Amino acid sequence: MHLILFGAPGVGKGTQAKKISEEFGIPQISTGDMLREAVRNKTELGKQAEAIMARGELISDRIMLNLIKDRISRPDCANGLILDGFPRTIPQAEGLTGLMDELSLPKFTCIEITAPEEEIIQRLTIRMTCSRCGKDYNPAIAPLPKDMKCTVCGGDIIARKDDNEDTIRNRLKVYQEQTAQVKDYYIARGAFFSVNGNREVNEVYRSIHDIISNL
Ligand code: AMP
Repeated sequence: MHLILFGAPGVGKGTQAKKISEEFGIPQISTGDMLREAVRNKTELGKQAEAIMARGELISDRIMLNLIKDRISRPDCANGLILDGFPRTIPQAEGLTGLMDELSLPKFTCIEITAPEEEIIQRLTIRMTCSRCGKDYNPAIAPLPKDMKCTVCGGDIIARKDDNEDTIRNRLKVYQEQTAQVKDYYIARGAFFSVNGNREVNEVYRSIHDIISNL
């Protein structure tokens, strides 16, 4: 099963990708998480990416395609994978199609998650995230751990640098200008579905599950 979870920042791609990953035993590949790890480890990529990410802009297609090629060639992707946050531009989508041919991968199915912009801004402004494993915490759904340590890995729970209102608005603008048209690319390839993400997490998951079950 080769899936792309598509949609604006904050629609719940990461949350849903983790649930699919757990149930179907295929890895969630979040390019945002990979880049944040590179920033934490102060690698060459991390040093290049840090300021761009803090502004809410996109890392170059060439860098992203190299990163994704390396990641999806690993053995844990042999039975499938879930892309979360990639592709984010038409050249990335075209590059991924090229990789499918090069690596003999089956066709990717793109599942879009939607939510109104004001709901997204509200969600991202209060979102907290584990600085080590990337688990998201939503104080509107459940209180944060008192010690602010991640319940999964013990890492510090913090607000992501790009989860402030100015950067959130810029990320949404970048999404409209550079990412939204990726949807048309997958519609044209007959591999596109859309679910309403403005519902409770398990309800959204049920819709995604129905789509996956019928693939
Ligand atoms: P995310 O965690 O998916 O919201 O990504 C956080 C940030 O990482 C984005 O705002 C971009 O700066 C960068 N990023 C993640 N994925 C990509 C991608 N596929 N192409 C370019 N930049 C990306």
